[in-house]
Amino acid sequence: MNLSEEDKKIILDWINEKCGVMRCNCCGNAKWELVGFSTLPIGYDVRSTRYFYAQGLPQVTIACINCGHLLFFSPTIMGIEPIQPEEKETNIEEKGSKISTDQTNSDAG
Ligand SMILES: [Zn+2]
Repeated sequence: MNLSEEDKKIILDWINEKCGVMRCNCCGNAKWELVGFSTLPIGYDVRSTRYFYAQGLPQVTIACINCGHLLFFSPTIMGIEPIQPEEKETNIEEKGSKISTDQTNSDAG
């Protein structure tokens, strides 16, 4: 999922506040780039080789711009919470009458 500009700001502010200047463990570079989308590695049992889709762990990623080493952070701990879509109220009677209208049309045709 692409990160919004608001989420990118939250992430960069959080990293700057909590981590300050970070050096890459692999090459020592101090310049990073925020990857523009979040990801979700899922649970996997190495013994049974089964996947556990409900055990996903959301993450945001920054990449060392010199060697490509990746660091992962939890968007939840950064305060980026899921937004649930609003539920639409459905009128079952209206839906039912539309279906019967369609059936009438197909019978007539
Ligand atoms: Zn590096």
